Amino acid sequence: MVQSIRLIFLGPPGAGKGTQAQILAESHGIPHISTGEILRAAIANETELGQQAQGFVDRGELVPDSLILDLIRERLQQPDAQQGWILDGFPRNVSQAAFLNTLLAELSQQCNVALNLEVPDSTLIERLLSRGRKDDNQETIRRRLEVYREQTAPVIDFYQKQGSLQSVNGDRLPEEVTAALKDAIAS
Ligand code: ADP
Repeated sequence: MVQSIRLIFLGPPGAGKGTQAQILAESHGIPHISTGEILRAAIANETELGQQAQGFVDRGELVPDSLILDLIRERLQQPDAQQGWILDGFPRNVSQAAFLNTLLAELSQQCNVALNLEVPDSTLIERLLSRGRKDDNQETIRRRLEVYREQTAPVIDFYQKQGSLQSVNGDRLPEEVTAALKDAIAS
């Protein structure tokens, strides 16, 4: 029997959340839900969401919760998300984390573990500058790291207090990180 698995990825921009989330999603046959990717697709397609989000994303700010919460509520109710999911980029502040707790209770779903990828700033900046996404310029990267420290880092404490946090060293080869994450999920 396939066991349902629900994972939350935490960690600063450039920590490797997207890469690792994609690998684990494929190996478990569950969707990788990246709010950053959803927003970039909306911006590329010039949808209403995209138009509302673009300025925030370009400046390295979080988009307002009002643009994200309904989107997550709907996404977690899709048929492909009933056997599990991996969230990448959400929750990104404590109010999103509190919302997710309430939503999961409503949907009778439970998150197995919040995985926190730890990577030093020097490595993050190097990785982001070599990635070359539109919001990966010096100034936006600096702002994203600031926003991470101010608004997203407290989410680590939130899951620590809830007893569902596992931290993994993300500053090594991708396949070593994957192995450590699999161990953390199994423990
Ligand atoms: P990063 O590698 O910088 O973490 P993401 O792809 O996760 O990149 O996110 C890119 C941008 O999308 C963020 O800088 C932010 O503007 C916006 N974003 C993504 N997820 C959220 C969220 N949960 N709440 C608010 N803004 C978000």
